[in-house]
Amino acid sequence: MALDTVTLRIAFGLMALVLVFLFYFSAYRVTRSPYSGWWCLALIFFLTGAACFLLDGTVHQVWANPAGNVLLVHGGVAVWAGARSLRTVHPPKWAFTGIPLVTLIASVLDNPATNTWSGGPVFLAAMGITIGLAARELWRLEPGYSRVRIPMAVSAGGLAVFYLFRWLAFVLEGQDGPTFTTVFGSAVTTLVTMVLLVVVSFSMAALSSEQQTRALRVVASRDDLTGLLNRKAFLDLAAEQLADHDVAKGSGALILADLDHFKAVNDTHGHAAGDVALQSFAGACTATVRSTDLVGRYGGEEFVLLVPGSSPERAEDIAEEISRRLASAPPLNGMEMPTVSYGISMYDSRTRNVEELIASADAALYVAKSLGRNRTARSDRMM
Ligand code: GH3
Ligand code: MG
Ligand code: MG
Repeated sequence: MALDTVTLRIAFGLMALVLVFLFYFSAYRVTRSPYSGWWCLALIFFLTGAACFLLDGTVHQVWANPAGNVLLVHGGVAVWAGARSLRTVHPPKWAFTGIPLVTLIASVLDNPATNTWSGGPVFLAAMGITIGLAARELWRLEPGYSRVRIPMAVSAGGLAVFYLFRWLAFVLEGQDGPTFTTVFGSAVTTLVTMVLLVVVSFSMAALSSEQQTRALRVVASRDDLTGLLNRKAFLDLAAEQLADHDVAKGSGALILADLDHFKAVNDTHGHAAGDVALQSFAGACTATVRSTDLVGRYGGEEFVLLVPGSSPERAEDIAEEISRRLASAPPLNGMEMPTVSYGISMYDSRTRNVEELIASADAALYVAKSLGRNRTARSDRMM
């Protein structure tokens, strides 16, 4: 059975058009997830690229053939960018300019007026590489990221391998070679791409709403003013840490911090200046501890840190370091940063209750306040 490439391309174009519409209205408009945005863009590139090839054999082939190559390669880059957006990293800029530019140059130099495969090897390699990179991104997501992670990575990986073999057949046999024309010809490719597009679009709907849910979860777990964990998120994550039986993480310190005479800061310099002081303190905390330690705003001008693996002495050093950083923060309109009092409580592998741990640190904090503030007190009870 001989498949007619032109008919297939028209079918492909129609399908891509329908998918763009479905995607735009059902996924992107609703979720605004970067992933669905990239995917819409990729579909538009694939659609317009395939449309360009319909002009092969006409007088327009001279520009349409290189343009088709460049548009399809852009589509490949957009797929890669979308996969990267799941890890919230941006695609490197050269991907958008460099890869299509190389494809364009190769196509223009390769007799595009008469050659329907102008720049063929570069085009095939660019498609294989960008889609292969997308597969790698999907594969590298943490296993629990999404239930469609594996099917998506495998589909993209399969398509990348398909392009790799096409490229190989093209380089070894040329565009008129038997393998290239029968196994990897345009008709078969269009069919394969059609099937994959449906699979990927279907999974995509799931993925973009999962991405949106994640974004909402981040917003819901952060304190607006300081960007630290809010109270609930801190308590949840701390409870998870305490339930972790890993020996190294089995013990550690909880530090409760309260800015001294903070009401006076607000009264003297205004609430906005008070807010800046709170932000500076949050910055001093995150700059002092490791990124894996938990830092939360417990409420008002009270903050809480969980430092797994820390000794009592290390916790005291951390408190001292935070205060030192805060004191050296640039003064705002002559406002001195407030001093801070800390209460420390220690936990070990038997500790389960975060609230009790905080209550014990709070009692120590009360002692620090009553001893004159700007100091650290340690609870002697192991919680
Ligand atoms: P102490 O040394 O005993 O802790 O005295 P304090 O003045 O720090 O304690 P107090 O609890 O009396 O006052 C806390 C102040 O923190 C009162 C409140 O207006 C202020 N505050 C709470 N949340 C915010 C905030 O988001 N921004 C600003 N600017 N101030 C806040
Ligand atoms: Mg307070
Ligand atoms: Mg205070």
